[in-house]
Amino acid sequence: MLNGAAPPKTIIIGAGPAGALVGIFLARHGLEVDVYERRADLRRSAVERGRSINLTLAARGLDALAKADVLDAVMRLTVPLRGRVIHAAAQAPGFQPYGRRPQEVTYAIRRGELQAALLTAAEALPNLRIRFNARCVGIDRDRSLVRLADERTGEAFTAESDFIIGADGAFSSVRPLLQEGRAANYHEEVHSYGYKELTIPAAPDGGFRLRGDALHVWPRERSMLIAIPNRDGSFTCTCILTHEDGVRLSQPGAERDVQRFFTHTFPDVVAFVPQLVEDFHRNPFSQFVSTRTAPWHYRDRVVLVGDAAHAVYPFLGQGMNAAFEDCLALAESLMRHAHDRTRAFAEYERLRKPNSDALDLLSRRHLSALRDQMRSSTIARTQIYDRISWLLPTAWVPLYTLITHTTIPYTDVIARWRRQERVARLVGVDVAVHAYAGLLTLRQLVIGAHQS
Ligand SMILES: Cc1cc2nc3c(=O)[nH]c(=O)nc-3n(C[C@H](O)[C@H](O)[C@H](O)COP(=O)(O)OP(=O)(O)OC[C@H]3O[C@@H](n4cnc5c(N)ncnc54)[C@H](O)[C@@H]3O)c2cc1C
Repeated sequence: MLNGAAPPKTIIIGAGPAGALVGIFLARHGLEVDVYERRADLRRSAVERGRSINLTLAARGLDALAKADVLDAVMRLTVPLRGRVIHAAAQAPGFQPYGRRPQEVTYAIRRGELQAALLTAAEALPNLRIRFNARCVGIDRDRSLVRLADERTGEAFTAESDFIIGADGAFSSVRPLLQEGRAANYHEEVHSYGYKELTIPAAPDGGFRLRGDALHVWPRERSMLIAIPNRDGSFTCTCILTHEDGVRLSQPGAERDVQRFFTHTFPDVVAFVPQLVEDFHRNPFSQFVSTRTAPWHYRDRVVLVGDAAHAVYPFLGQGMNAAFEDCLALAESLMRHAHDRTRAFAEYERLRKPNSDALDLLSRRHLSALRDQMRSSTIARTQIYDRISWLLPTAWVPLYTLITHTTIPYTDVIARWRRQERVARLVGVDVAVHAYAGLLTLRQLVIGAHQS
């Protein structure tokens, strides 16, 4: 790419998953890379280490990590998830495998551990430098100059480059400056549900208190609990609540309401979380935010990746996976058009923007799919679709498999799924689903009558 000329220099704002990975790709291709991150280095800071959230990695993320040659370092930190366990109210938990083939699994990883592995791999490259506690406070987009402030000392400084990558997350400081005064759009939405994080500690012998190779879901009418295992035997839980319930239960003095809520809604979980009320009050009630925006680039000077370009609701566990796909796509476009960066950025945006919009759509519909797990119509549809996919494994691929276990572009996933559904309707599958759902409802009514 470089043909003996001085290598181009890039500045990356944000050393989150996307900033670190795109830095690794570009440094491996010979560019000079400077990364500025507003937080302290989480490998050395107790406060940053304490952020407990865990994430799931799937085919798209794994593919990008492998191409950046960091997959082995990351895989050591993961827990494989073979499916999900649904804990319906007053029913025995049911296991649903994530796929038909043994390799169709996802991998849970703590955000902090993933981040530390990527930062260490990035810093091992001689042409990549990371400065922590450095907040971007402005950019001069025509000169690709960045204004920064040291978070500890308040010292202001500037840095110059050939181009800037905004990898600074959903509330990007680079995005509005890239778009200022141009025909641009920005759409931000806060979901009516928000979340609190809780922890199910490991059992006294260090083992898992629930099945350790699965994601656990407790779907309820107005709330949901999701638990993902960690390597140390604990589970990180996301308790999803309506905004109204989240705010009400977070009020000081609401301790008894919290205890009552959990005892009533998730009684089997209460026994596992001795510090439930303390955890609940210590952790913030956070919001789910989705953003869509355009354009993603300014001439050959500034470009966005990851959540800075598109934040999706996390119900499908694809946000970071898609961010990693962005990093790969941007690096490939830059290599393809090494002498025409404007073209590279335009190509990258043209390839990725429709796919992030498609993922946004898929992520929105997945929360209701999770919530409706126990409805007769959902059970009937799932079982019939599973049977079809077993009979016709190449012609009928479940939607979740297309999203999670392949790298087929999200736009093609939607198109293919719609095609499959159209054919299913034509051959009468919908009629079969309705009939079977009716039978299941009848069976539930009979069982309910016997029990009462
Ligand atoms: C509850 C929850 C669960 C999720 N689960 C999953 C999952 O299972 N699987 C999945 O694939 N995705 C998941 N996601 C989505 C995933 O977390 C994001 O898509 C991913 O973190 C995006 O990475 P990023 O690097 O683009 O942004 P971020 O992770 O937000 O990183 C941005 C970085 O930029 C830094 N920064 C911000 N502003 C500045 C500034 N002005 N100057 C310098 N630095 C700055 C920040 O400190 C941060 O380090 C989940 C999200 C949530 C909220």
